[in-house]
Amino acid sequence: MNPTPLTYDAVSAWIALSHVLSSLERPTPCQIDPDPFGSKRVAERREAAEACANCPALEACGRYAEAAGETWLVWAGVDRTPVYARKRRAVAA
Ligand code: SF4
Repeated sequence: MNPTPLTYDAVSAWIALSHVLSSLERPTPCQIDPDPFGSKRVAERREAAEACANCPALEACGRYAEAAGETWLVWAGVDRTPVYARKRRAVAA
């Protein structure tokens, strides 16, 4: 299955997010510890989402995630993992 191509808005938002990230004086929570942002455990993703609250890239990150229609990982304080994947992981755990 081919990935969905990014739209112009998504690419623009990604570039804007990249600029914000490269201008920061210190790393974001997901740069410091990326694992919880894609964890199989809901509680870890919830903690990761909470860590986004103080991230200086929060707005740009959210704009990108919306524009790209991200459906995995935690972006800008939102767990975008699909519900079916959450249920499948819960059964397997
Ligand atoms: S807001 Fe985005 S860039 Fe910042 S920690 Fe959360 S996921 Fe990472």
